[in-house]
Amino acid sequence: MWAKNNPSKLWTPGQTLRIAFLNGTQAFKDATIAAASQWLPHINLKFDFVAGEEGDIRILSQPGVFASRIGTDALLTTDQPTMYLWPHPDSQARYFAANVIHEFGHMLGAEHEQTHPAADIPWDIPAIYAKHGITENPEEDDYSASQTRQKLHEQFLDRAAAEDSLCSEYDRKSIMHYAVLQSWTQGNFETFLNMELSDNDKAFMAKAYPCPV
Ligand SMILES: [Zn+2]
Repeated sequence: MWAKNNPSKLWTPGQTLRIAFLNGTQAFKDATIAAASQWLPHINLKFDFVAGEEGDIRILSQPGVFASRIGTDALLTTDQPTMYLWPHPDSQARYFAANVIHEFGHMLGAEHEQTHPAADIPWDIPAIYAKHGITENPEEDDYSASQTRQKLHEQFLDRAAAEDSLCSEYDRKSIMHYAVLQSWTQGNFETFLNMELSDNDKAFMAKAYPCPV
């Protein structure tokens, strides 16, 4: 697991984060609280869930999107949601929970694990480009191809700089790791969607938000 450290986006240990639900059904709120609370035994932060618009974190229930600001970047806006969660039917409760834990990982400051400074994923870059209809030469990009190339590099291919990061070891079981298709890699490397916190995830956050000695 890893987080940016220059500047740090971590909250202050001991802090109570006020988390506001802007909308959503009671079932949505209950499922969100249950999943998000899986972080709590491992961190010295408290979550105060409230209804309304007053919150360090503001959650919008919105079909079609899972997203969150990273750590204290939530404070950079006061009138926008800082997290979007896509309500799911009961039959997909596990999938919803996994995504909530992932988005709360971002909220706590974590970045995507596949861009970890030490990630050693054997990407098959020509195959990935071909699947997305782009060539290996950026000079051939039209606007849409250049957007696609940038997104692929940001989300998957470009690793973070170690010197600007706070890291535990690269962990393909991290809740912050995207699924990686075998067809995107050389050889047999693939990862599936991780559904729960890994031991590394718990240890990293315990170190990021320590209890007083
Ligand atoms: Zn994410």
